[in-house]
Amino acid sequence: MNLDLTEEHELVRRTVREFATERVAPVAAELDRDGRFPYELVAELADLGLMGMPIPEEYGGGGTDTLAYAIAIEELTRVDSSVAITVAAHTSLGTMPIFLFGSEEQKREWLPSLASGERLAAFGLTEPGAGSDAGATRTRAELRDGSWIVNGAKIFITNAGTDISACVTITALTGDGEISNLIVPNDAPGYEISAPMHKLGWRASDTRELSFRDCAVPEGNLLGPRGEGFKQFLEILDGGRISVAAMGVGLAQGAYDLAFAYAKEREQFGRPIASFQAIQFRLADMATEIEAGRALVYKAAWLKDQGRPFAKEAAMAKLYTGELSHRVANWALQIHGGYGYMDESAISRLYRDQKILEIGEGTNEVQRMVIAKHLGL
Ligand SMILES: Cc1cc2nc3c(=O)[nH]c(=O)nc-3n(C[C@H](O)[C@H](O)[C@H](O)COP(=O)(O)OP(=O)(O)OC[C@H]3O[C@@H](n4cnc5c(N)ncnc54)[C@H](O)[C@@H]3O)c2cc1C
Repeated sequence: MNLDLTEEHELVRRTVREFATERVAPVAAELDRDGRFPYELVAELADLGLMGMPIPEEYGGGGTDTLAYAIAIEELTRVDSSVAITVAAHTSLGTMPIFLFGSEEQKREWLPSLASGERLAAFGLTEPGAGSDAGATRTRAELRDGSWIVNGAKIFITNAGTDISACVTITALTGDGEISNLIVPNDAPGYEISAPMHKLGWRASDTRELSFRDCAVPEGNLLGPRGEGFKQFLEILDGGRISVAAMGVGLAQGAYDLAFAYAKEREQFGRPIASFQAIQFRLADMATEIEAGRALVYKAAWLKDQGRPFAKEAAMAKLYTGELSHRVANWALQIHGGYGYMDESAISRLYRDQKILEIGEGTNEVQRMVIAKHLGL
């Protein structure tokens, strides 16, 4: 057993940490305050080859393993969750379905511009009436004269409405109890995208409601065999959970770093608050839990890279890091006292950005359901 990261993985960490510190950190608060999508940063991430890391080079991606990708997402989230989720949703949810289930023709059509980061892709699974029960999709697609005619709605969809969004892969009923995935191009007639939704956190990321009114999608945009949509989206979610779990570790690490620095600098009762044992114990607990969470995430990524089953470990990593980031963000803000509650303090943004990590890509309860199923319950 060797727990050392390879030189390549260390290089990914150093590169992304440098980018996050030098390019993202100075603008993160402003992007959050203005709810402005980070187009300039996405272009820079694309130049660095970070918008399609696990997609093979022949399709314009970085050809890295899942572990390298998880490390990159962790490092971005340490500084800013909006930028991190933009990359993670684009890669794991938007691009991956086309790579995993697309025909060679579909891959050649879509992947080069997506994996290079020139365009963005989204995954539209959630509906107003189908959240945790994602299979309860009501959106319908009917084959008529060589086109899928789509009617229905999706909600809370990441990356669907930016100026550079190319497409959304949606789940739709193509028959009774038959779910299929369809790639809907952003310019499809009858496809309407709402204004950006207002959120507690992830304010610089793009979240939209989508509606389809007799929306015509070319017949050839069916992804994989008809009726495979349910199986496909479960597989997509399994992989996506590793990146959201990496966000949990990254957010917790960022919150810890802020709390550590503040505790050393802030003086009360004539000495730095870091000299009080109560604060030291909090920081010790935080550091310990972060280490445990990181080990879970890297193990899930490693299993995936070995081609071994990883769904249970991905759900465990997502569950644990979701709850861990909650505890750590809360303690980190507590260590900041009243200053942490002010908008201008970075910890308040991390605190707001944290909550969604226990909801998106399957709630904590859904992760427990997935884990229990794998345990044979
Ligand atoms: C900012 C943001 C971005 C998102 N991005 C995307 C995206 O890009 N694509 C996409 O498809 N979706 C996206 N989502 C949707 C997200 O995945 C869903 O919000 C999530 O799956 C939960 O569904 P819901 O909100 O309908 O909650 P519900 O399913 O209504 O759940 C409400 C509560 O009930 C609990 N619950 C439900 N069923 C059970 C049960 N059987 N046992 C116990 N408890 C249960 C839940 O755990 C939760 O606490 C995003 C959401 C947000 C907020």
